[in-house]
Amino acid sequence: MKKEKNMTENIADKEMSECKLCPRNCKKNRKNKEKGYCLMTDELCVARAALHMWEEPCISGEEGSGAVFFSGCTLRCVFCQNRNIAAAQTGKIISIDRLADIFLELQEKGANNINLVTPTHFVVQIAQAIKKARRNGLIIPIVYNTGSYENIETLKLLDGLIDIYLPDMKYMDSSLSLKYSNAKDYFDVASKALDEMFKQVGKPVFDKRGIMKRGMIVRHLILPGMTYDSKNVIKYLYETFKDDDLYNVTAMSEMLDSLNSMIAMVSAGLGGIAGISLLVAGVGVMNIMLVSVTERTREIGIRKALGARKSVILQQFVIEAAVQSAMGGIIGIIIGSIATTTVGKLAGLNATPTPMAVIVSFSVSVAIGLFFGYMPARRAASLNPIDALRSE
Ligand code: SF4
Repeated sequence: MKKEKNMTENIADKEMSECKLCPRNCKKNRKNKEKGYCLMTDELCVARAALHMWEEPCISGEEGSGAVFFSGCTLRCVFCQNRNIAAAQTGKIISIDRLADIFLELQEKGANNINLVTPTHFVVQIAQAIKKARRNGLIIPIVYNTGSYENIETLKLLDGLIDIYLPDMKYMDSSLSLKYSNAKDYFDVASKALDEMFKQVGKPVFDKRGIMKRGMIVRHLILPGMTYDSKNVIKYLYETFKDDDLYNVTAMSEMLDSLNSMIAMVSAGLGGIAGISLLVAGVGVMNIMLVSVTERTREIGIRKALGARKSVILQQFVIEAAVQSAMGGIIGIIIGSIATTTVGKLAGLNATPTPMAVIVSFSVSVAIGLFFGYMPARRAASLNPIDALRSE
């Protein structure tokens, strides 16, 4: 065991001082805190470790997959779901021992497996953590969840340590892989990587509950307008592996459909809340204007005595109600914009309100004032000048 540990540490020393772990081949001295294309030094950086329910059903099961998300990435996919993590904007530096403990803690929580998400640039440290965790009682399968931009030599370091490979086959067309992931040689690299992974783990093996214990699942995401490449990928996978259990194809439109239906539900809920708020605000404006008319009855009487016509009084109170409502609208727009931008920043999204949203909000505020201010204005306009002048 001691010999095995020393061997891994030697490899770690060599790899980290002139890193060629992935096809970027940066040769950076990560031990000297230099960062390569993956944006990571030799310090193990983890962004999230938790039970994850949304992998393939045979990976997550009902209990969840013990996902560990590593910061940084060797690809730059424009459609990345974990953009902040891949761009190394989030993550905590931990030791190899702590990573081994995290694996054991996830097993304690009932995880069906340990799911290493974007692990390529930390393979050496991960290999050491797996060995330590295995010695301390880790028995669940290890899943290697990768974009497949992998060197064969790096994958060979994992032979015997990984039970399930979960690689992507993103593109065949090199112009697409260059444009959307900045990796012109993606298909050449990924196809060889898939061969090595399959060589290590073979065909899928499932337990009685249908949970995967060993094997490989290749993932492919159909990009909008790029179905020609997806057809080539599926053909390639079929001709290479000839087994339906080995690949999972997801269309981005499917993901967008579920996202859109979620957004529609949330929008309907928010729309209902906004409608009730507007009604309450309108009743509020109406009450304020009624009080104003009552308190200014004498003023209305004087104006009428001096010749103000009914339409002029009506106009005055309707405009006052609209101005009040518009002021409320402006305050609401300012607070809403600050809140939306802040929440957007925290969530890593661009969530600035559009000019159209601002114009619509302002117009609705003015309309509420006009609508709910009309009744008090009519009451003011209909006052008898003599009665109004006698008012105290
Ligand atoms: S793992 Fe990082 S530093 Fe090493 S070759 Fe790849 S991108 Fe460069």
